[in-house]
Amino acid sequence: MTTHFTMTDTPWPLLIGGEAVAAESGQTFEAMNPSTGAVLARFAEAGEADADRAVAAARKAFETTWGTLTPKARSRYLMRFADAIRARAEDFALAETMDVGRPISITSTEMEGLADSVEYYAGILLGLSGETLNVSDPTLADFTLREPIGICGLITPWNYPALLAVLKIAPALAAGNTAVLKPSEVTPLSSALLAECAREADLPPGTLNVIHGGAEPGMRLVTHPDVGKISFTGGTVTGRRIFQAAGHGMKRLTLELGGKSPLLVMEDADLEAAVEAAFTDNVRNSGQVCAACTRLIVHRELHDAFVARLEERLRGVHVGPANEKDTQMGPVVSAAQRDRIAGCLAKAEEEGAEVRRYVELEGRDDLGAGYYLPPALILNARSDMATTREELFGPVQSVLTFDTEDEGIALANDTEYGLAAAVFTRDSGRAMRAVRQIRAGTVCINAGRKVSVDAPFGGFRMSGFGKERGKDALLDDTQLKNVRYAL
Ligand code: NAD
Repeated sequence: MTTHFTMTDTPWPLLIGGEAVAAESGQTFEAMNPSTGAVLARFAEAGEADADRAVAAARKAFETTWGTLTPKARSRYLMRFADAIRARAEDFALAETMDVGRPISITSTEMEGLADSVEYYAGILLGLSGETLNVSDPTLADFTLREPIGICGLITPWNYPALLAVLKIAPALAAGNTAVLKPSEVTPLSSALLAECAREADLPPGTLNVIHGGAEPGMRLVTHPDVGKISFTGGTVTGRRIFQAAGHGMKRLTLELGGKSPLLVMEDADLEAAVEAAFTDNVRNSGQVCAACTRLIVHRELHDAFVARLEERLRGVHVGPANEKDTQMGPVVSAAQRDRIAGCLAKAEEEGAEVRRYVELEGRDDLGAGYYLPPALILNARSDMATTREELFGPVQSVLTFDTEDEGIALANDTEYGLAAAVFTRDSGRAMRAVRQIRAGTVCINAGRKVSVDAPFGGFRMSGFGKERGKDALLDDTQLKNVRYAL
């Protein structure tokens, strides 16, 4: 595999005020390649002072350049940013594969579409407007304005670093805000490439700043008095900390958090379609997908056939290094993640469930010191087991059974999360009853997880609030001003 960017010992810099700079402290950290367990690259490690510098640069750009542009000018800049990203689609694919461990056959297609999300917001920002209101007071003309919030702090997780960063940057800038991106310290490489694209597109200095590091610079963005909004994607525990800290400063928030989504297979379901959706969610990104359906809730009559067919599919999965063309499932992202998931499976067995693993990895020399796990199912699971309730974030799903429609829906809702759900049935009335009753931000009927930039995505309950994707993400990055004009 050849890279079009150079991996040297020189740490990847921060992007502050349009300049590629080192951290003030001079500190650096390493990111690992999960397929090999070797060091992938080194990054400048931002501290609070660097977060402050980035916010100051974003503030200057908001007050003097980006924040003063017409919508059309902003749209043109974003199209240039999209072009710079598209020109480096192959680099992004390599970066995601080496940093996250997602197979190259998948990232190469995914990253061809990365720029589309920027173009989507470059387009719809031109239609952003307030409205004229017919208020009851005849002495007033009344209208609303959609204004930018100011500076947005964007904090992203490690599982889809390129896409999730773009889905925050694009609407924030499209709405007229400036931004500081703080990607996960576990997979920072694609955000370092996005910083290069921002420079290549000549975005006004300070419009987009990128600082690498962990909780320290992240929390500084959350508490900084000049930051007006935090858009965070990550775990619910971190989300709760951010919610509390941001509340102190009355900051606007989008929180995209964890999930434990159900896949409900009714007795009249298309079995093959349901198995395909379950299989995909087990294997895709090694199960490290927030909206993956990890609770397979199957009508008792279909249970045995469903499990047998799913097992057949899982046994055939080719697990291997992410950079190899025929790999279907790569490693999980880190040794810590691998060990934590293995611990969860042991816990499921202690709780009385049966754990089945489907691919033999022992003795596979090609896997070296990478962080590999076989796809697994937890059979005979109960809804009160810890492994059915907690997000495991790996290639593992629990299988539960039910007898009546009401029981199935009750099981689907028996979670503190509410990110997504999938329902398989050939009965449209049953499908609509499920849609109405299931508490989740996205419900798919007769399809597994389907996301696209033009449809809103975001959770209910402990999965957070606010929307990413679609026009709602753009609206969430604005504030509404009401003008009451005496006639
Ligand atoms: P995480 O919560 O550990 O970290 C997320 C980000 O927050 C990282 O950039 C991290 O450095 C930063 N951070 C950590 N502590 C912080 C603090 N105290 N203050 C400010 N920033 C802090 O999450 P993760 O392990 O990187 O990602 C996995 C989680 O993300 C899973 O729970 C998954 O469900 C969730 N996720 C949700 C969605 C969604 O759209 N709902 C999408 C992808 C991932």
